[in-house]
Amino acid sequence: MTEDKKKVQLDDIQKLVFERIAKNDTSSFKQLVVQLKNGVNFVDNDGMTPLQHACCKGNKDAVQILLDMGADINFNQHGADYTPLHFAALSGNTQVCRLLLDAGINVNSVNSVSRTASQMAAFVGNHACVETINNYVSRTSLEYYTQVHGQQKEPYIPPTQLKAFHTFVIEINLHPVRIALNAQNLGLLRHLPGLSRALSLMCVKEMQKTHDINELLAFKFHYFGWIVAELMRCDEQFKAQHKDKAGEGDAANKNDFIEVFVKRVLKENKLGQLDYVEFTVRECAREFPFRECTIFRQIATQLGSKDALPALQVLRNAINGMRGFVDESSYCSSCGQEKPDKKCSKCKAVQYCDRECQRLHWFMHKKSCARLLAASQAGAPGPQLPRAPIDASELREELAKLST
Ligand SMILES: [Zn+2]
Ligand SMILES: [Zn+2]
Repeated sequence: MTEDKKKVQLDDIQKLVFERIAKNDTSSFKQLVVQLKNGVNFVDNDGMTPLQHACCKGNKDAVQILLDMGADINFNQHGADYTPLHFAALSGNTQVCRLLLDAGINVNSVNSVSRTASQMAAFVGNHACVETINNYVSRTSLEYYTQVHGQQKEPYIPPTQLKAFHTFVIEINLHPVRIALNAQNLGLLRHLPGLSRALSLMCVKEMQKTHDINELLAFKFHYFGWIVAELMRCDEQFKAQHKDKAGEGDAANKNDFIEVFVKRVLKENKLGQLDYVEFTVRECAREFPFRECTIFRQIATQLGSKDALPALQVLRNAINGMRGFVDESSYCSSCGQEKPDKKCSKCKAVQYCDRECQRLHWFMHKKSCARLLAASQAGAPGPQLPRAPIDASELREELAKLST
């Protein structure tokens, strides 16, 4: 950083490109960028490329265009060794992170203070970016499961479903309802047995690596495989129950077992706890095949403690890391997705991703909707749980990490 910055000669279009990105003026950026004569890999006086600036801004469209135009994700001249992923992680935009990950960016690159992009995101509290990066596996690494090996007659996943399989695997939301709905929406319900086997294999393979073993991913694959197996069980039960009742053609909707599964998951007991989730997650953890590893011990200890958090929460903390403070009211009441768009139009006290999530949760929510509405009309403090206080020691730890 001590050397003098080289003055860069930029032509007018190049200057304007930087200006438009700085203003997040995407439409005029689009018009300008096609006029560039020598590609998009150039830098401003700070050694920053248009891609790095667009990542800073969390501008997904601009990033996509630049990548399409051949922006080099490894081009780095600004001296602090931030990759575009570092900038994206700091911007908090998970979609920009995803674009860069899909483009093959190295997640292990460290900046001049020896921090990875994921660590930088954690430091500024961009948890969704941390999770997006840490849960990522490349699509090519999954191709193995779409090919025929050894005695196999067919691959676990048809090659045409690779993209869906990839999307399914890199999901950061661990809620069983989200996993089930993803399997359905991605068209993977016909491949559940193969999906389950592929995930168990992925878990084993992760643990047998000679270096860079990622226990967290191994556990996640085990868990996803477990939930897929639960879906298969539900499918079997559903078929058995409906065999005598309806004729073949009348089998209403083949996907109805997903509905059954979701209701099983969301059914609360008298204390508002999700018994099925609690049981399933605990059973899944017990059956993790690698007992010696840190994540297994951590989960087992936490689940065994006297005031254990809900099992799904324990799992989430173990796989995706603790979040400082969590506002539970900012999650979909059905699938646990963060920052959902819609609210129950009656009570406005619970949130959902979309109509489907709301519909699936109504059988539980209808019992409390009127009560929540009355409470809000009476001016009572909403249903939100009090925020957890800021943990001072955790904050100090984070600060200590940064200053080392
Ligand atoms: Zn949802
Ligand atoms: Zn309501």
